[in-house]
Amino acid sequence: MGESRTSDDVIVLRGVHKSFGTFVAVDQANFSIGRGEFFAMLGPSGCGKTTTLKMIAGFEQPTRGQVLLEGEDVSRTPPYKRNVNTVFQQYALFPHMTVAQNVAFGPRSKKVDRAVYEPRVAEMLEVVRLTEFASRKPAQMSGGQQQRVALARALVNMPSALLLDEPLAALDLKLREAMQLELKRIQREVGITFVFVTHDQGEALTMSDRIAVMSQGRVEQIGTPEEIYHSPASLFVAGFIGSANLLPGTVKGLDGDDAVLELASGGTIRTRVGTPPIIGERYSVMLRPERLVASTEPSTDGRSIAGVVNELIFQGASTRLELVVGDGTTVVANMIDDGRGPSIRPGDAVHVSWAAGAAYLIPGWPSVAGATSTDVDAIEAAL
Ligand code: ATP
Repeated sequence: MGESRTSDDVIVLRGVHKSFGTFVAVDQANFSIGRGEFFAMLGPSGCGKTTTLKMIAGFEQPTRGQVLLEGEDVSRTPPYKRNVNTVFQQYALFPHMTVAQNVAFGPRSKKVDRAVYEPRVAEMLEVVRLTEFASRKPAQMSGGQQQRVALARALVNMPSALLLDEPLAALDLKLREAMQLELKRIQREVGITFVFVTHDQGEALTMSDRIAVMSQGRVEQIGTPEEIYHSPASLFVAGFIGSANLLPGTVKGLDGDDAVLELASGGTIRTRVGTPPIIGERYSVMLRPERLVASTEPSTDGRSIAGVVNELIFQGASTRLELVVGDGTTVVANMIDDGRGPSIRPGDAVHVSWAAGAAYLIPGWPSVAGATSTDVDAIEAAL
């Protein structure tokens, strides 16, 4: 994560640290955000993502370290002198002004010529698809439409980056999902860097080019949604993004491209590894539920575990199979019904297997073995 700046980095954080009294809110943040990138900061409540965003915006100053914007150190520059705009959860539109007047507010207060800003306002209303609402007042519009006015009002200033702090949190689920795609489209169209703060992993996976996953003030991993989902750098990331089965074990040896892992729940499995693990050390194997296949026979290549079916829950597109293995640990598999599979019932002894490369080894043991919860509120409550 110790990246050096390239000419296409819009934002660079160098050793950024923020304390409130003795409490460390952000610890050694070192990363860069590229031009035109959709970058999400994701993590549970209190992990320091808003504080990081505020330091980029200028609403907070780092206790140590530097924030660079377009190559210039802005760590001590006030917000209004930074070429960034922030869109908050509460968009705070001016109620007495029309939509067009709201959007024109930034350029007008900077004394930009009317002849220059008017076409820009019209263009931004076009981008957010609100041209026909130009003369309405905010109170006459829906939450999603008001959100788009707030976006246009920020984008019209042509900032180096647009900072968004949970901008969709106030919208209901359907509208939130529609706005996720809409935001992504707008970002592509204007080509401006978006830095987006969210505690919703689905939202981050859907919209981002890269995600920084934060926990307790630290950046745990930065990567594309695929990297973070399939190759999590830590047990926290594995558990926070999507559903995972985390099975603790000890590496007993290496065999070709595989590590041989003795599971704490009993039995030995093989898993493909990139970097060789340390023999004798504790690791966890991560198995994504959708990559597991249930059958009555074990695999012949050591890539399966045995258990007893505890529950089968029909979920429409797939069926959730809950398996209890050796020491009582629960493992979850998502089975797609292709109409050809064996009919499995609760109480049956089965094996779940996976393809080489579908299991991923992570250092350390989880506090709770087996299937993780994707319930963000439950994860937050546990922290
Ligand atoms: P949320 O999603 O709940 O906003 P977050 O990840 O954005 O969470 P931050 O708002 O960055 O978290 O806060 C990180 C930690 O710093 C929290 O524990 C918070 O209580 C603390 N904190 C933030 N601002 C201040 C402040 N001005 N004074 C003292 N503590 C603060």
